[in-house]
Amino acid sequence: MARTITSPTDAAAELSERFSRARRAVFFGGAGVSTASGIPDFRSVDGLYHQHFAYPPEEMLGHDFFVSHTAEFYEFYRERMICLTARPNRAHEKLAELERTGHLAAVVTQNIDGLHQRAGSRTVHELHGSVHRNVCERCGAVYDAAWVLATEGVPHCEACGGLVKPDVVLYGEPLSERVLLASVRAIQEADLLVIGGTSLVVYPAAGLVNYFGGDELVIVNRERTPADEAADLVCACDIAAAFDF
Ligand SMILES: [Zn+2]
Repeated sequence: MARTITSPTDAAAELSERFSRARRAVFFGGAGVSTASGIPDFRSVDGLYHQHFAYPPEEMLGHDFFVSHTAEFYEFYRERMICLTARPNRAHEKLAELERTGHLAAVVTQNIDGLHQRAGSRTVHELHGSVHRNVCERCGAVYDAAWVLATEGVPHCEACGGLVKPDVVLYGEPLSERVLLASVRAIQEADLLVIGGTSLVVYPAAGLVNYFGGDELVIVNRERTPADEAADLVCACDIAAAFDF
């Protein structure tokens, strides 16, 4: 049974010690890392379900909806998925610092907001893609989020007129095999795995944890997760506070 601590100060002390002693640490993060930066988690109860859109977010973020209701998809995408004013929080900043100082090998994230890179992280495996890459389906030209925000209706490629699609894994679409393999490898090679801000119930989060065979598994999440039993330490507290060391 894992030891559980709820004090953010104690969590920060534990994380600091464990990162400094690890040879190859990996952080695996979910929506909770971004909600601390004000980015809503569309799966949460008080998330986006009460907004003015005619469809639930999980339908609008589906592959079929993108194909059949492209304009409505982009209305939602521009208004709710792209949040260029969000700033990295203490967790993003500390993770970038740990990588710079040689105490973190990689970040694996389910988030699509690019905040880890914005904080300075370099090795970031984005399981669900990124709103910062939007790709022409015909010629492969890549457009950033600001470009999409400046378009109206359905965005088309400036070079060839092709449909531009976010490099974001929509429901019903497979994950990038390249990113998935890189994530599996990073987790397999880690001696410390810190999982933060994810309830670990959404595929592929739960499955990825099974690849970890290292020494220490630490969970930082307010709510319980299925991996708590297998963890060495559970920090049931705010993630940004836990990384304030
Ligand atoms: Zn094009």
